[in-house]
Amino acid sequence: MNTDDNTADALSGRTRALLDLGGWPVRRDRLAAERVALVVAAWQAGARNVAELARAADVSRDVIYDDLRRSGINPSDPQTKKESVMPATTQQVSARRRLLQQVKTLLDSDRGLGALVEFNGRPDLGDTEKAVQMAWSRALVALHGRDRAARVYSGYARDRQRDVARSGLTLTSWDSLVLDTKPVGDWTRDIHGFLCVVCGGTFPSVLIEGLDPACQRCARENTESPEEAAPLWRAYSHHAFVFPGALREELPKGESTVTVRFDTEEHREYTTGDVGLFFSDVTSLPGYVQHSTQVFGENRDAPTAVIEAHTEHDGRGFDITATFTYDPLPEAGEPHPYGFRFTAARLTPTHPAPGAPAEYTDVYAMLDALINGLHGDAGTTTK
Ligand SMILES: [Zn+2]
Repeated sequence: MNTDDNTADALSGRTRALLDLGGWPVRRDRLAAERVALVVAAWQAGARNVAELARAADVSRDVIYDDLRRSGINPSDPQTKKESVMPATTQQVSARRRLLQQVKTLLDSDRGLGALVEFNGRPDLGDTEKAVQMAWSRALVALHGRDRAARVYSGYARDRQRDVARSGLTLTSWDSLVLDTKPVGDWTRDIHGFLCVVCGGTFPSVLIEGLDPACQRCARENTESPEEAAPLWRAYSHHAFVFPGALREELPKGESTVTVRFDTEEHREYTTGDVGLFFSDVTSLPGYVQHSTQVFGENRDAPTAVIEAHTEHDGRGFDITATFTYDPLPEAGEPHPYGFRFTAARLTPTHPAPGAPAEYTDVYAMLDALINGLHGDAGTTTK
């Protein structure tokens, strides 16, 4: 993208028009992703006639078959047609709702105006709170995958931005902005709205024209005065959530996968899901050692995984034994299976002193104990 044009006229003319045009395929692909979500939702609500789905969506039956298969549903399998999936659907909806609830718990006390010089010291958050927020944010990304975590966070951030807009806070000088930070990815992948709309390659720090996120340089070039720009809300741990997104053809891979080698030499690829929390390639836990991983079960479409591991930070540590069960159905609106779902975990404190093991069947309660045990005020758990 050429942003070296020196005159504002050039940017608001030819380059602007090309940028607007470049945004169209993103919207087109988003519409296709919405169709997939609606098709899967209709299927899970019991509409299992492909011809009927095709008529309702005004597309060919091939498109419906393709949408369902991309979402891990085999529409030709008579067993799939019969089985009821309503309980699983209820569970899937609650997975995303729980994530949003946790994001609120985590970020509601964060003023989120760190791009402003006066807020840059983050007087609202102490060092321990920052460490806990960062650890939680990274754990949520490992637990939910980057796409879902980014989607929920960016929705929440838009709501918080409305509070900033209502407050009427504008800039009085460009000097009140902290310097922009590191550039990220290709802007056409920015399905979560994290990048500068003009150059697409830098974290935005302000909103221009009321709604377009822009980096400081582009904002200066495209506005008459700083008063036309509003500060942009973002959490202390914002960059943990940033994921520029995936293009439509890459969406099935919006979640990472793991390959399991069974003893019969069979190799199978599974969507990671919650087990990312405890896989050494994906985990955000400090000082992490994965001692063993076992995947077993009669049904290889829904196997069980058991992981034994250890994590430690700053003289505190836990032994972990965790169990997950594979869920081949997608979370509503997502074009890949949910993946391994958390079943239970046992945490045994090893440092600073060995302690009694505690069992958890709720992944958030387990994370609360783990994160506060590793990063929080020693010996206390919040909530
Ligand atoms: Zn920019």
